[in-house]
Amino acid sequence: METGLGNQNGPIEEIIYDSETGQKLIKKGTVTFPPRKVFFKTFGCQMNYHDTERMLFHLKGLNFTQTEEKEEADLILFNTCAVRDLANTKFYSNLGETKRLKANKGRVVVGVGGCVAQTEGKELIKKYKHLDFAFGTDVIDSINDLVYRAYAGESKFKMNAWDRSENFSIETKITHGSPQAFVNIIKGCNKYCSYCIVPYTRGKEKSRKMAEIIEDVQRLVKYQGIQEITLLGQNVNSLGKENNESLAQLILELEKIDGLELIRYTTSHPYDVSDELIAVHGIAKKLSRHLHLPVQSGSETVLNRMLREYTPEHFLNLCEKLRLANPNIVLSTDIIVGFPNETEEEFQQTLDLLKKAQFDFIYSYAFSPRPGTKAAIMEDSLTDKERNTRLRQLQKYQLEIQAQIRSKLVGQTMRILVDGTNTMRGILTWKGRSNCNRIVHFHPEAVDQNYQWHWVDVEITSATGLSCTGKIKKDHGRIPPK
Ligand code: SAM
Ligand code: SF4
Repeated sequence: METGLGNQNGPIEEIIYDSETGQKLIKKGTVTFPPRKVFFKTFGCQMNYHDTERMLFHLKGLNFTQTEEKEEADLILFNTCAVRDLANTKFYSNLGETKRLKANKGRVVVGVGGCVAQTEGKELIKKYKHLDFAFGTDVIDSINDLVYRAYAGESKFKMNAWDRSENFSIETKITHGSPQAFVNIIKGCNKYCSYCIVPYTRGKEKSRKMAEIIEDVQRLVKYQGIQEITLLGQNVNSLGKENNESLAQLILELEKIDGLELIRYTTSHPYDVSDELIAVHGIAKKLSRHLHLPVQSGSETVLNRMLREYTPEHFLNLCEKLRLANPNIVLSTDIIVGFPNETEEEFQQTLDLLKKAQFDFIYSYAFSPRPGTKAAIMEDSLTDKERNTRLRQLQKYQLEIQAQIRSKLVGQTMRILVDGTNTMRGILTWKGRSNCNRIVHFHPEAVDQNYQWHWVDVEITSATGLSCTGKIKKDHGRIPPK
């Protein structure tokens, strides 16, 4: 199958066994790979974490297993994010640290992939002597060939070509064993919002065909026990525009898959949310009652400068239509505070929108100028200090809204899929996410009770702006009740 994420042109991999020890070895071209460890450091969004998972799947075929300890790794791979400067700075400091590790340990191979490597791969290779190779966002399916080249003795090379094939065609690759999976349905972005680097690091928008996605999900459900999927893309609402297909149609088809319990999708651009999709939120039984809809600002003039293509009125109208279609829908958003020359009045308009929209949670960021974007060269009267003060003010304001919304949840029972534990002041709680994406904690009935990946009904007993806690009403085990 054509992968669409880079062609695997290198030598094929072959399993052999050591004649003396019986140890499993992988032979690729002239190189024999004994069992080795790979350490990943991933920055940024779900898309990057999904790409890392994909690389791990491939590397298992080269005899690598994952380690959480950098010190014991033979191969260190960074998956970078360029969306804001903070992730960038963290990456550079992490990359610096690996220099010492490589000097102490000897043969450690270091590679950098993802958004930063896509645009700055050549400079990275030149500047960091201990870096062996760099690779872009469109070639992650070639990771084994890149690692092979490094172990074959090649060093200081980069691969960041764009995939030129017409369609985006892949198969979801996971090895984690959990019932949740991300499924990439569209890549790239054609929007060019004035602050955003994504179109430069992820390239032009390309959709997978609906038939391929459905087959992929059927396989995940049947053979890998997947119960919950999150359809992924920078703008999933653009899915299938070139093929006369749509996200709404896809959701209705995926609903028919037996054994699939829950469908989430992210991220949506408000301009592209169609009436057809809004209607699906009213009728689709397996679609999450949560929608993340990034508004970025509540000011019409700022939205204009951001090139977002909608007004605050359009956005609020959209929220209303979604709530009419499904009165239980929960909405969340992203906000950028301190866009170049944002006035106090424009900032207040954003607070006003938060009040009107009543989001269940938000991700909020101070504007970070990204090289090559339109906003980075706009004249700007704001200082970082002003931006950060506004950011704190906005977060405090929103937290009060959230606390009010959530106080009404006390007494309700929510079904969650348990995904882990938390220990606070020595007390262990289990936690999971509800259908509408709320984080819910609960105390186990017995200390040694294991609820991992169980479907559990929890009655909410207390709630803060950020999470809910409750007591377990019923443990359904791993199979959700009909
Ligand atoms: N595709 C999504 C959309 O259109 O809303 C968002 C993708 S972006 C990777 C995630 C979030 O990062 C954005 O919604 C925005 O709030 C934030 N972001 C992007 N560029 C930024 C910048 N230059 N400074 C601060 N935040 C930024
Ligand atoms: Fe960036 Fe999202 Fe705008 Fe695309 S739609 S340019 S990913 S913010």
